[in-house]
Amino acid sequence: MHLDLRTMQFANTTIDEDRLAVAGSDRSLCWAELQAEVARWCRQAQNMGLQRDMPIVLAGHKEAHFFVAMAGCLILGAPFVPVDTIYPAERRQKITDIIKAPLVYDAAGRTFTRSSHTFAALPEKDLAYVLFTSGSTGEPKGVQIGRESVRLLGDWMQSRFGLGHAPVFMNQAPFSFDLSMFEVFDTLASGGACILNSREQIQDATGFLQRLGQHRVTCWVSTPSFAHQQLLNKDFAGEFLPSLDTFLFCGEVLPHALCKRLLQRFPKAKILNTYGPTEATVATTLVEIDQTVLDTHTVLPVGYPKPDCEIVIVDGEICIIGDHVMRGYLNRPELNREKLFIHSNGQRGFKTGDLGQIDEAGLLWCQGRRDDQVKLNGYRIELAEISRALQALDEVKAAICVALRRADQTVARLLGFVELEPSSGRTATTEWAPYPAEQWKPQLEQRLPPYMLPSEILTVTALPMSVNHKIDGKALLQGYLKL
Ligand code: AMP
Repeated sequence: MHLDLRTMQFANTTIDEDRLAVAGSDRSLCWAELQAEVARWCRQAQNMGLQRDMPIVLAGHKEAHFFVAMAGCLILGAPFVPVDTIYPAERRQKITDIIKAPLVYDAAGRTFTRSSHTFAALPEKDLAYVLFTSGSTGEPKGVQIGRESVRLLGDWMQSRFGLGHAPVFMNQAPFSFDLSMFEVFDTLASGGACILNSREQIQDATGFLQRLGQHRVTCWVSTPSFAHQQLLNKDFAGEFLPSLDTFLFCGEVLPHALCKRLLQRFPKAKILNTYGPTEATVATTLVEIDQTVLDTHTVLPVGYPKPDCEIVIVDGEICIIGDHVMRGYLNRPELNREKLFIHSNGQRGFKTGDLGQIDEAGLLWCQGRRDDQVKLNGYRIELAEISRALQALDEVKAAICVALRRADQTVARLLGFVELEPSSGRTATTEWAPYPAEQWKPQLEQRLPPYMLPSEILTVTALPMSVNHKIDGKALLQGYLKL
């Protein structure tokens, strides 16, 4: 059994109905149970008033019913808005309000709640999901992904990734990050299995590996940062996970050293590097990083474009063209005009903000960003969103968040610099002083997820200005490094 991503209906295959489909952090479902639970979920959602093209917020973490609800939404044609509990309540509410979702489903309690918004279809039809990412205006922005994009992703994975007949995926990224959609859609399309791992389950390093071993996981999907953390555990190796034959990476630069160490621990595994922004449905390029690639390059390529997709470099910027490009940011016409275009072949194009080049063989190489978007441990962050949250703190007059980078340009930490209101009575007496965490953390935690909190904030008597009358982040960083 599997879910046909063309018809969005369950269909019979040679795969046994008793085989595991999803192992949630709370319970497991075989394919027959998954089908029954999805049917039940669809009836409940319809009874609550959900109809085609109406958005529904799915809240939770790694419960089996988060997976059930996503499959149900695909069948009903109702776009899902995945929101992990890593987000503070204020951010979850904001997302519900921006998209005006009439219903919120809680996967842990398996309950539907009516919001204050009326039942109405979204103006954009036939969406599969709307995923919110960090926004430079200070508010998260909704990326609208069409149902056809999900089918294209499934087709690509089935035809080019070589994951075998019915792969068993290790899923760990929160569902509010689209990296996790690799496993969701390919499990459904292939009739494989998805092993969901909660933060608590992962913290128990031994239990985590045992769980992956028991389920005979074949494909590991994560950011490189997450795999790097696992290397601290010496049992994270082929002897303990003999079925694991593929590492599928996306979301940030894949370091050469990580690949080398992984191949030492898992000599029989293959490593796939993929690249792409959420705005182009999970990933757009693919390449296998084998020993030959490692022997000939210290910086790794990100891959060849997927079928029916074109990549062009315009003034150094990577632009993606294809039907898998989003239908636009929700309610953000000015941003859509800036980032989207129609290519000469009539397909949608997206200007990624990534700098890169394509070599003679057609292979894409990434060379950093042209803007203030950063990746920290695989999380996508707009520094401007944090700066705005800092500015909104009670005592703060002006503020900026800057990224402290390592020699290889990856982000090591986020730093905040604030100038306090004179009326706060706490104006710094020295030029630089630490801003005590108790003054800012409780407020910021209400607004931002933990991965967006600066690791340190300093008060500055007067924030330096650059020639274009913006706060001079570079000067602040230089000053910080001399402290
Ligand atoms: P997200 O929307 O969270 O998937 O983040 C997309 C961004 O992450 C891209 O625009 C790139 O800046 C970066 N990115 C994704 N995959 C890779 C990769 N394989 N190598 C380098 N950067 C990547």
